[in-house]
Amino acid sequence: MRLQEKIVLITGAASGIGQATAELFAGEGATVFASDVTPPRQPHANGIEAMTLDVTSEGDWKTAVDGIVDKTGRLDVLINNAGIIAYEPLHELGLDAWHRMIAIDQTGVFLGMREAVRIMRRQKSGSIVNISSIWGSAAVAGAHSYHAVKGAVRNMSKNAAMTYVGDGIRVNSLHPGFIHTPLTDAQAPDLNDAVIAATPMKRGGRPIEIAYGCLFLASDESSFITGTELVIDGGYLAQ
Ligand code: NAP
Repeated sequence: MRLQEKIVLITGAASGIGQATAELFAGEGATVFASDVTPPRQPHANGIEAMTLDVTSEGDWKTAVDGIVDKTGRLDVLINNAGIIAYEPLHELGLDAWHRMIAIDQTGVFLGMREAVRIMRRQKSGSIVNISSIWGSAAVAGAHSYHAVKGAVRNMSKNAAMTYVGDGIRVNSLHPGFIHTPLTDAQAPDLNDAVIAATPMKRGGRPIEIAYGCLFLASDESSFITGTELVIDGGYLAQ
């Protein structure tokens, strides 16, 4: 029961890493609000309340966080997990595609943190985990907009960590390597094979392996950690 009595909001929780994190957290005693742009594809486990939240919508964020605080009186943990990926290289990237990536993967994190710190500053406590990527600090060819947002999330996390350290709020980023989820299942197999081949452990990760990292950063076990980057990547970035 590592999250007993914690009130948690997770975005993008109908699928992949977000879903695994919601289920793990509920099993650890948290009350989990599992949000996504569309309702969950399969029923969630006990202790999880599904809610609709488009992370690009300022109004959705306010409604969701106000609703949680009305019900429970607090918000202890925010996992900013919702995201999309795209592979266009710079010279092929259209402006609409660029804006869509920024809106979901970067503005979504900004809006979420802003809403959460509104509550957490009052409480004088809270933990925010922003899901970045190995592509937030290392590069491959292509995926220009994805590199842009994941790098931004890394630095936004450090900025928020410094800004709110005096309010008892911790902010960290988590950087997964290749993880088997519906997002990567939809990608070209040769692309996935290439990333896995370049991973020292020679396999993709499982969503639960990222969820355990979220659990550590969300829980009081990481009480002396803020502004850091937790890399969970089968050794990819150590090369
Ligand atoms: P996933 O299975 O596709 O889950 C992402 C969820 O976010 C989906 O349910 C998706 O809904 C939702 N979403 C998309 N747009 C949204 C919006 N505007 N508002 C709210 N929710 C929205 O992907 P995942 O692999 O678990 O990825 C989770 C996070 O980890 C992402 O930030 C991703 O960039 C990051 N990440 C993943 C990997 C990997 O290898 N899988 C590696 C590094 C980082 P729809 O399906 O309806 O669009």
